[in-house]
Amino acid sequence: MNYKILVNKDHKYSFPKIKLIKFKNICNAEIKVEKKTYKNYLKLQKYLKKLGYIIDVESGYRSFLEQEKLFYEILSLKGIDHTLKYVMLPGYSEHHTGLAIDLILIKENKPLFDFDIKDKDFLNLLHNNLYKFGFILRYPKDKEKITKISYEPWHIRYVGKNLAKKMYVSNLCLEEIKKDD
Ligand SMILES: [Zn+2]
Repeated sequence: MNYKILVNKDHKYSFPKIKLIKFKNICNAEIKVEKKTYKNYLKLQKYLKKLGYIIDVESGYRSFLEQEKLFYEILSLKGIDHTLKYVMLPGYSEHHTGLAIDLILIKENKPLFDFDIKDKDFLNLLHNNLYKFGFILRYPKDKEKITKISYEPWHIRYVGKNLAKKMYVSNLCLEEIKKDD
């Protein structure tokens, strides 16, 4: 498993076989996440719970067909501009790798999705501690021009602890890391 893999508008995913763990989220939707990513997600979840925040997964692994379905769903709901801004074309989504997770925050037993997560204290805490569990904030606000993706505070990506720490300390995104290799 290549935890450093770069998947974006310029790097298409080739769909190698990966080990996925299945579970149900608060909405009773079936979620799949790569094995090691899941293990470390659980540690992150436990850490945040101790500090009073309950997180869950909105979206993990997506197959080519699932991404295609999502693309057309969002397209019909939100139009082409929003869709191209936030949803990758099938084959180019990081969610194909099983290493990417869209988080939800649970407040008063209700899930807060994507754009509803506006809790600044929570986001600061989350974004500044992800590296301890091998995750990065994949699409930071100050890297929009490089990732070519709008800021997504909810989308985290597993890269392993060493790389996550290196990226956090040096404030580099995955596109910049790849260039260094
Ligand atoms: Zn995502």
